[in-house]
Amino acid sequence: MAESAAPLLATLRTIVGDANVLTAENDVAPFSTDWRDRYRGRPRAVVRPATTAQLAASVRCCAEHAVPMVPQGGNTSLCGGATPHEGGHEVIVSLTRMNRVRAIDVENATMTVEAGATLSSVQQAAADAGLMFPLSLAAEGSCAIGGNLSTNAGGTAVLRFGNARELVLGLEVVLADGRVWNGLRGLRKDNTGYDLKQLFLGSEGTLGIISAAVLKLFPKARTSTTAFAALAEVGDAIALLGLLRQTLGDRLTGFELISAECIELTRREFPAVPDPLPGHRWYVLAQADDPALNSSLGALFESALSEAIESGVAQDATIAQSDAQAAELWALRENIPEAQRREGPNIKHDISLPVSSIPSFLDEASAQLDAAFPGVRYVTFGHLGDGNLHYNLAPPAGVPGEEFLDQAPRANRVVYDLVARFGGSFSAEHGIGQLKRDELERYRPAIEIELMRAIKRALDPQQLLNPGKVL
Ligand SMILES: Cc1cc2nc3c(=O)[nH]c(=O)nc-3n(C[C@H](O)[C@H](O)[C@H](O)COP(=O)(O)OP(=O)(O)OC[C@H]3O[C@@H](n4cnc5c(N)ncnc54)[C@H](O)[C@@H]3O)c2cc1C
Repeated sequence: MAESAAPLLATLRTIVGDANVLTAENDVAPFSTDWRDRYRGRPRAVVRPATTAQLAASVRCCAEHAVPMVPQGGNTSLCGGATPHEGGHEVIVSLTRMNRVRAIDVENATMTVEAGATLSSVQQAAADAGLMFPLSLAAEGSCAIGGNLSTNAGGTAVLRFGNARELVLGLEVVLADGRVWNGLRGLRKDNTGYDLKQLFLGSEGTLGIISAAVLKLFPKARTSTTAFAALAEVGDAIALLGLLRQTLGDRLTGFELISAECIELTRREFPAVPDPLPGHRWYVLAQADDPALNSSLGALFESALSEAIESGVAQDATIAQSDAQAAELWALRENIPEAQRREGPNIKHDISLPVSSIPSFLDEASAQLDAAFPGVRYVTFGHLGDGNLHYNLAPPAGVPGEEFLDQAPRANRVVYDLVARFGGSFSAEHGIGQLKRDELERYRPAIEIELMRAIKRALDPQQLLNPGKVL
């Protein structure tokens, strides 16, 4: 251990207790690498506070020693956002012990929860109170609400409820010098100056450490319908989206595009998952929810799908007849990332585009990529209703994954240049982290970068919070 680390670690131990300052290699290992195993860091220690007071004191201690900190929730970031660098200087601040639901106000439809609570525990607490928290993503059993808010996570219900940013009314944040900003207000209207919480939402731990949040809750869905449709073209999926929106209004909560390759991939790795409509090129998984019990939702959904089949927009469709069948359909979608991980390295693109330009983008992108990487395999899926595609590239048959991964910069350039040309974003959901820092510089106007740097300097003048991430 470097000499200078001893007083820091001694103070951290007095704050959180010996057992919650980890330094042994085996103990810090799970915190030091990312979910995709692409980044491996070496932290000076992992500190695990259990309360906001302990968190604030730990941050103050690190700031006094000028030690950089890496906030970490569930460590499911897909862009190395929560992984420390290799230098051995940084302290990982793990929020997982701060996982209490502090309060639920049913009449105000709000929950005050600590940052380290897993997303699934937040959903469950809302359900236990007879309400619903709509943020939902495949990592929900592991990711933490603080991580979700710090990355402005999206997921499968953005179409109806918006990104994580739109689900927050108030925040409590530990600032870079250890001071605590208590902005835990449960108000839907509050025009009193700058909306400070927006600075921290989506800032990936670079401006402050979120310790707790007031979340918006919604009426529980008492009627749900999940359908799976087979289509010939992506353009048909967009037509189906318009048709379902027209018929179901904002009861349409999710609209996911899945390519035939994704279904094959998922079923190779998870053979128990059914293949309800084999033999088509594209699929859509759509869900609609209604808080009313005696809703006509199912009948409306069915008539919209019949109309889609009659008009040639859809080739076939099936509606889940039970919760278990709906879960099976969702398993087809939600197991894609894990199936991809099991099959080895691939080049990921988490992009967003105006929905209307997605078919042209896909045509142009595949023409350019086929020419540059003959035999490249496309793993295309995503939240089509939000214009968000996971446009991932798997190696041509016979090409080792690691070798293909070396081509990532070239492939990224083709994809991101096209995305920029179509007015899209090179990072729709996953953020910037350390993976896409250079892309931010490249694709965002200089004035935006300048404003971001000014905000960073104002809130973290010593540059101690998650250095080397985002900017
Ligand atoms: C299988 C799988 C599916 C996924 N699907 C989606 C999806 O559909 N939509 C989507 O948006 N993302 C998705 N993700 C990405 C990831 O799960 C989300 O970004 C999630 O919000 C990260 O939460 P986390 O707690 O794991 O954060 P971490 O990975 O621990 O951290 C993420 C970032 O937030 C910062 N951070 C964490 N906690 C705090 C805090 N309390 N205060 C300040 N900064 C903090 C970290 O420093 C880091 O920069 C998926 C990931 C996986 C593995």
